[in-house]
Amino acid sequence: MPWRALPGQKSDPYHVWLSEIMLQQTTVVTVHDYFLRFIARFPSVQALAAAPQHDVMAAWAGLGYYSRARNLHLCAQELAARGAFPQTVPALEALPGIGPYTARAIASIAFNVPVIPVDGNVERVTARLFAAGTPLPAGKKHLATLAATLNDDAPAQARASDFAQALFDLGATICTPRRPKCMLCPWQQDCAAHRQGKAESYPVKAPKKQRPDSHGTALIIRGPGPSVLLRKRPDKGLLAAMMALPGSDWISVSAPPDSLQKGASAGPWLYLGRVKHVFTHLTLYLDVYEVEVTSWNAARTSCLAPLMTPEMIVDAVPCAMEDLPDQALPSLMRKCLALAKLPA
Ligand code: SF4
Repeated sequence: MPWRALPGQKSDPYHVWLSEIMLQQTTVVTVHDYFLRFIARFPSVQALAAAPQHDVMAAWAGLGYYSRARNLHLCAQELAARGAFPQTVPALEALPGIGPYTARAIASIAFNVPVIPVDGNVERVTARLFAAGTPLPAGKKHLATLAATLNDDAPAQARASDFAQALFDLGATICTPRRPKCMLCPWQQDCAAHRQGKAESYPVKAPKKQRPDSHGTALIIRGPGPSVLLRKRPDKGLLAAMMALPGSDWISVSAPPDSLQKGASAGPWLYLGRVKHVFTHLTLYLDVYEVEVTSWNAARTSCLAPLMTPEMIVDAVPCAMEDLPDQALPSLMRKCLALAKLPA
């Protein structure tokens, strides 16, 4: 992993912080290339702080959970103003976008502070070691209290950075969600779940709530250049400040409105298909339509009814086709553009 320090070298707090933010909700395999591209483009906290927000969002595009990128940028500006990373958990937690887990990860890995960062892997190892039976998510607090005792001996405290990373690795490679390799585990003798022969039963999880559905449209309006209209989403809410295709609001309903149910072309609009995108808290279905206009003035007239209203493009700007890959477009919008075979 390119963010890890080599044996005998000190961890770079910028690399630790960036990788931990990227790794939230994203796999190591996906983060690997993003991380390398990101540090090539923004080699230091100062370079990241000085970059325009659009450049940071564009470098993040595709990783999802875009509030992470906005907070990363804000945090870089605060760190650049301070001149260095703070080294305690409370001071790190006070920075934008840094929660209890990330503060402990930076403090332990970069500054050798003897605290335990509790992510999903560490939660699983802890639940098994103690055979903790309170279902998640209600049992999280109890697991965090138990996890805080894992480094309760002098060697672990002295090498807090190695201990935290070893714990991550144990969870990722040995104490895996399915088929844990208990025969290879250094904690086998002390593990209550292993003694019970029920390692895979922990952590206990409460049944998942179903995600509600939302529906909407995404409109690909091709015009002179050739180019396509894009707009910036509002600064708050889902996919905040990202670039997007114009379209309807996303309505929380179990089936699309009547006007969209046919999945057929409407007026001058050609129906391209439906895109499904799963967010943490909802599943979104976007019906994608395409139209070609000879001038941007034409796009602002009623000939684009029934799917488009003037408000949908009031702040939209044409983007040349060849510039689409450089835009801060989330995966959802890239899926829509792919239906029209546009470069994204
Ligand atoms: Fe996980 Fe097995 Fe080790 Fe227990 S003995 S911590 S279940 S790998």
